[in-house]
Formats: sequence, C-alpha cells, structure tokens
Amino acid sequence: MSSLKTDRRGCPVTPHRRSLGLLCAASLSAFAGVPAAQAQALKPTADNKAFVSYAQPVIAFTHATIVDGTGGKRRRDQTLVSDHGRITAMGPTGKLRLPDGATVIDATGKTLLPGFVMLHQHMFYPVGEGAYSEMSYSFPRLYLAGGVTTMRTGGSMEPYSDLNIRDAISRGDIVGPDMDVTGPYLNGAGLPIFVPAMHTLTGPDDAERTVNYWSDEGATSFKAYMNITHAELQTAIDTAHKRGHKVTGHLCSVTYQEAADLGIDNIEHGFFLPTDFVKDKKPDTCPSTGDLRQSLAGLDVQSKEVKAFLKDLIDHHVAITSTLPVFESTVQGRPEAPSGALDMLAPAVREQYEATWKKIQSHGESVGNYKKLAGLEKQFVEAGGQLLAGTDPTGYGGVVPGFAEKREVELLVEDAGFNFPEAVKIATYNGAQFLGRADDVGSLAVGKRSDILVIDGDASRDPTAIEHMPLVFKNGIGYNTQAIFDAMKQDVGLH
Ligand SMILES: [Zn+2]
Repeated sequence: MSSLKTDRRGCPVTPHRRSLGLLCAASLSAFAGVPAAQAQALKPTADNKAFVSYAQPVIAFTHATIVDGTGGKRRRDQTLVSDHGRITAMGPTGKLRLPDGATVIDATGKTLLPGFVMLHQHMFYPVGEGAYSEMSYSFPRLYLAGGVTTMRTGGSMEPYSDLNIRDAISRGDIVGPDMDVTGPYLNGAGLPIFVPAMHTLTGPDDAERTVNYWSDEGATSFKAYMNITHAELQTAIDTAHKRGHKVTGHLCSVTYQEAADLGIDNIEHGFFLPTDFVKDKKPDTCPSTGDLRQSLAGLDVQSKEVKAFLKDLIDHHVAITSTLPVFESTVQGRPEAPSGALDMLAPAVREQYEATWKKIQSHGESVGNYKKLAGLEKQFVEAGGQLLAGTDPTGYGGVVPGFAEKREVELLVEDAGFNFPEAVKIATYNGAQFLGRADDVGSLAVGKRSDILVIDGDASRDPTAIEHMPLVFKNGIGYNTQAIFDAMKQDVGLH
C-alpha cells in the first residue's frame, strides 16, 4: 500500500482519478484499524460498472423497516445513513438530520437486513461423475447477488483458484463477497466415491504438512472430511490452532463428540450426520449410510442422551453450521429449485438436476425425519449453542448461489422453527462472530460497514419476501441483483 498515493478519503489517486473517485467507497484514513483488504474500492471496469446501481459516497435510506441482525424485533420507519462505506447514523425517520448532498432512497415498504455472512459455501458445483468444477466466474457474482457479502468456503477443490478469487475481490478487480478460504479437504482413506480432486492423507505427519503448506499459501481455515482418522484430525487441529486458524468438519469416521474432545471448532451440516448414535460403531471407520440413517430415524430428540450430547458440544464451544438447502433437496415433496436458479444452470447440468429431482419425489428421504433433525438445530440454540448458516452448493445440484442463501433463511424459519429475526442473526451476526469479523460486519449498526440487503416487503411478516432482493450493498456500493442474474444465465456448470 505504501507506494499507492491516496486522497484524503483514502481513494487511490491515479490518472483516472475521477472515475475511481466515484467508485471509491471506503476511507482508509478514517478506518485505520480496518485491514486494507476490507477497505477496498471497486475498480470501474465495464463488467463491474454494469452491476452497480449506487456508487454515491453518501446514501440515506428513509422510512425503512430494519431487522438489524442482533435477533431483536424489527424497527419500523427508520433512517440509515451510509457515508463512504460505513453506517454513520441510524434512527427513527424525521429525528435524524440527513447529511447535505446525500442520495436519498425512499425505502417505504422495504426491509433492510445486514449482508449475509455464510459459512458453508463452495466455489465449485457438481457436474456429475464425481467431478466438481470450479465456478470461478459465476459464483463470486452470484453469491453477491444472493446477499452474501462475507463468506467462508467449506472445503476447496481448487484451492489456488479460491485464493486468487479472494484476492481479486479484495483488490476490487471483480465483484463478490469477502472470503475466508478453507484449504483442501483433509480426508483419510476410504471415500466410497472417487473424487479425483481430493487428496488422501497418509497419516498425522501428512495432516501437519498439508495444514502448514496451505496456511503458508493463504488459507485461513481447514475442513476435515468423512474418512479422517482421530490421529490425523488431532494433528490437523493442533497445527491449525498454532497458525491461528479454525477447523471445521463434515464428519463420519470420527463422531461429533470425539471431535469436540479433540478440540474441533465447528461441525458442518447441523445434526444430519452425527455417527454418535450408530450402534457398535468402529473407531476411525465411517459406518454405512444405512446404519447412519437408521440410528437417526430411531433417535428420540427429547431423550436424556440427546440432551447430554448437545450439552457436551456446547461445553466444548463447538459451533454447528446449518446447511438445510442441500438436505431439503433430498426430501420427497419439496419444491424444485426456483425458476430463477434453474435459469442460471447450463442446459446439461440442468437436465441432470431435474432428472434426479424427479426420482427423489418417489425415492427420497421422508419429510418427518428431515424436520426432526432440522428442529434439533433450534434445540441446540435454546440450550446455548452457536448456530451458523450455510448452503453447500453440492449434492446432486440445484443448490445454486444467489438463491440457496435466501432458502436457508426461509428454512431456518419453516423447518427449524426460528422466528425471522433469529434466522437473520444466524445468517449474519453469528457467522461474523465466528470469523472474528463482528466488529466490522454482521449487523446494521453505526460504525459497521455498509453491507445492506434491500428487500421488497416486510420480511418479518413473510420470510419469502427475501426472494425479492433488488439491491445488495457491499462497502456502501449498491449492486443491481437482477443485472447480475441476467449476466450469469446458463453459466453455472460451465465456469
Ligand atoms: Zn460442502
């Protein structure tokens, strides 16, 4: 940064100063404590400019309903002022004086939410036959269009692509959420399907080597996968913690409680995958899907055993990530992905998805079991647990960035049983807190970054209103979500 000249607002001074000035949203000088990566300016390339609706430095939303991300009740008829990418004032409309020259957005009939902070995203999409192709072009843009302004990847197939995308977003070269990049999956031997992009660990030394290598390359988080052994997981956790990074897991060979004992920070996929209740489970071995399914079908969620299990995870400070959209996709009688999401899919992957979805309608999981396990996420929170939100765009497809994030929030309400402000908190503030970014993002409050979702309608009355999100502000720049969707049609599955 030292060689870059900036004006008093921290905007880069270049021969194209005027146009850069218009899009320079954040002030480096006013927010000296904010890492440079977060005080970014968007480069005014033709591609970026096509998506921007508002780049004025001072914007005031008036008459808005605000759900601020803290879990508190909605507040009506509010004014929120964004000045150079930061929220500088919030309060009842009429009581706040608007700054001179502010661009006023009349938000009557609209709800403002904080930008989503989603913790189980990926930059790849399943294209069939065990192949997961990197969507380095469409996904950063689609995540932003879906309201995701900060995210963690939940495992990486092409770690260098993920790291380079993160940096390109940071520099303002392309639009997208701020990213915490998780290194390549830490998996042991024995995965039942062949995923050629995945490395198989050969033991604890290999786990240590892998975590250190990818930490050096810039990964800030790690994810254990289904077949990791106790010894490998223990070394991975210890090594990651030494580097200041957290470890999460999609577990199977190691149970949730065993991983909690080893010091894991986070476990993915809610309570859909604990092997803790499988009878005669062998250590370091992933039981069959049938045995896992049977153990969960027979689970009494009000039993002492389940309550003790939840308490143990909470006592060990293990956060749980809810990823309801990918599980909903396997349940009979649930709707197909919305038409807007299907429009994003390349024809060949759309065909594969639709054919599988049809089969699910007669051969899928029962809704009763799915709802029971979704309800455990609420029980976990009521007992004092930290629940995070994500979508996981894998499965057999159809969990499409730009759409699935909104669905996650809807399902936290419909299936897990949270009220709307609680669901929003899980999808915003909780994630920011887990990532150590809560001073900067995760709720609508004076001093925080202007990461703001604009919803048509009263989302606290009707959560499906969040499907109508015409504008997403990140760093005070307002993006036209429809312009992004229009530009990404049929791209998912291709690039
Ligand atoms: Zn995943």
